[in-house]
Amino acid sequence: MGLKTYLQKRNFDKTPEPKGKILKGQQMRFVVQEHHASRLHFDFRLEMGGVLKSWSVPKGPSLDPAIKRLAVETEDHPVSYLHFEGRIPAGSYGAGEHMMWDIGTYELSDEDADALEQYEAGRINFRLKGKKLHGGFSLVQMKGRGERQWLLIKTRDEYAEDGWQLKLRMDTDEKARAWHAMMEGKSSKTSRPKKQNAESVKKTKTKKGVESIPAEELFAKRKLEGDVNVKIGRHIVALTNLDKVYWEDEGYTKGDLIRYYYEVADYILPHLKDRPLIMKRYPDGIKGFSFHQHDVDEAPDYVRTVRLHVVEGHDVNYIVCNNTATLLYMANLGAIERHPWHSRIRNIDKPDWFVFDLDPGKGVEFETICEVALSTRDTLEEIGLKSYAKTSGSRGIHIYVPIKPKYTYEEIEKFVERIAAKVAEANPDVATIERSMKERKQGQMYVDYLQNARGKSVVAPYSVRPRAGASVSAPLEWSEIEKKKITPQDFTIMNMSRRIKQKGELLSDVLKEKQSLKIQKPARR
Ligand code: MN
Repeated sequence: MGLKTYLQKRNFDKTPEPKGKILKGQQMRFVVQEHHASRLHFDFRLEMGGVLKSWSVPKGPSLDPAIKRLAVETEDHPVSYLHFEGRIPAGSYGAGEHMMWDIGTYELSDEDADALEQYEAGRINFRLKGKKLHGGFSLVQMKGRGERQWLLIKTRDEYAEDGWQLKLRMDTDEKARAWHAMMEGKSSKTSRPKKQNAESVKKTKTKKGVESIPAEELFAKRKLEGDVNVKIGRHIVALTNLDKVYWEDEGYTKGDLIRYYYEVADYILPHLKDRPLIMKRYPDGIKGFSFHQHDVDEAPDYVRTVRLHVVEGHDVNYIVCNNTATLLYMANLGAIERHPWHSRIRNIDKPDWFVFDLDPGKGVEFETICEVALSTRDTLEEIGLKSYAKTSGSRGIHIYVPIKPKYTYEEIEKFVERIAAKVAEANPDVATIERSMKERKQGQMYVDYLQNARGKSVVAPYSVRPRAGASVSAPLEWSEIEKKKITPQDFTIMNMSRRIKQKGELLSDVLKEKQSLKIQKPARR
C-alpha cells in the first residue's frame, strides 16, 4: 500500500504526527496504541516491508483465546509512528490523545515464512514479545466481508489467560489530567505549527511566585511531599507529586528517587557529562506503563540539549545532563534510569569506552556471571587492556573498557565481538554470544557486545533501575567479584550513599584511562 494514503489524510502543519518514509531495514517490531479519538479504539501495528501494517481494533487485543477481536485494516503508517505519542488536534484526522499501550518485537510462528506473504494471503501467525502482550496470535482476514475486516485472536499457549481484562492507560480523570500535563511540552507543535528549524527545543523558565527551598534544606527533610520548587545553585527546578509512590512494595516515592539522585550527583554526573541521554520514563511508577524518549521538544533553560542526526533522515533533540538541576528535572519526569551514549558530543562518532553486558538468562546463578566477568577481565588483560565492573542493577554485570576516542562504532563493535567470542570459547558451558534464546543452552548466559553500536547504551554507574527494591547500578571492586558474595540486589537507593562513603568512586578511572586498541585500519592509498 505504501504511505500515500497516510500522507494524503494528514496536514503536517497541524498534526504532530511524523511524516516518515518507507524504510529499507527489516526489523520486526509491533506497537499497540491507545487512541482516544471520537471513538476510543486501539491501533495494532506490525512492522513489515518498511512500513507499519495497521489495524484498528475497537475493543483492543485480548490474551483470552476465546475472544476474537474485530481488527479493521487501516492505511500503512511510517515506522517512526511506533513511538508517536501526542495530542492530534481537533479538526485533524484521528483527533484526540494518542499513546503507546504496548510495544515490542514479533516473530512469525513459522520461522521460514514471510510476513508480507502471509499478509497477502490473509493470515498472519506470529508471536509477540511486548510488555503486556506475549506469545502466539493470529490475524485472520474474514472472507466475504470485504478485504479490510480481520480478526485478532490469541493462540492457546502458556501466555493465554482466560477472562483477561484489558486496562486502559488513561482510564480515570486523574490519569487523563496527568497525561495532559505531561504532554503539554510535546503538543506545543500543535498549537503553534512551525517548520522544524536548526534548534527547535523550546526553553522554558520555572514559574515564579512559588517559594523555592534551597536543596540542602529540602533534602534534609525525611518526607518529601506535594509540589516544591527547589533551588540548586543558580537554578530553580520545579518538582511535582513528590509523594507519588513509584515502588509499591517498598513504598518508595518519587521524592525518594529525586533525593537519591541529589545525594549521588557528584558521582554520577561525570559519567553523563556531554553525552546524549535516552530517557526511559515511568510516569506511573515501576509497574506502570513506560516509554523511551529520545527527542525533547521543550526543556527548562538549565537543561542542555543537542540535536543529532539519527536514522531515517530524522534529527533528534537529546537531553544532555551536565548539572544537578537536569539530573533532578529528569527524575521528576519519571525517568528512573540514566542511559548515556558511549561517545561525547564533541566526538560523537568515536566512543570513549566500550562495554560488555553480561546478561544472564533464566536459571543462571550470579556466581556464574561473576566467573564470566573475571574471564572477560583476564581475556582483556592478556591484550593489555584494563577493565572495570559494576552491577547492572538488575541481574547482570557490565564491564567497561575505557579507550581513546579515535575508533568508530563499527570498528569497536567488530573488536568487541572478537573478545566476546573468546570469552564464550573459554567458558563454553556457561557463556555464549548466541543472541537467540532458543539457540542458547540451558544455563548459558549471553555476552552482549551489541550494546556498543551508535545510539545504544547501558545504564550509567549509580543509575537507579525500575526493579524491586529500587536497586542501583553499583561500581564493584574486582575482589568483590572474586569473592562472589555480592548480588545486584544488595545495592539500592537507600544504601548507595553509605557505600560511596566507604569505597569512594570505584569507576573514576573509566573517565581517566585512555587506552589504545590494536585495530587494523583498512590500508589507505
Ligand atoms: Mn487510531
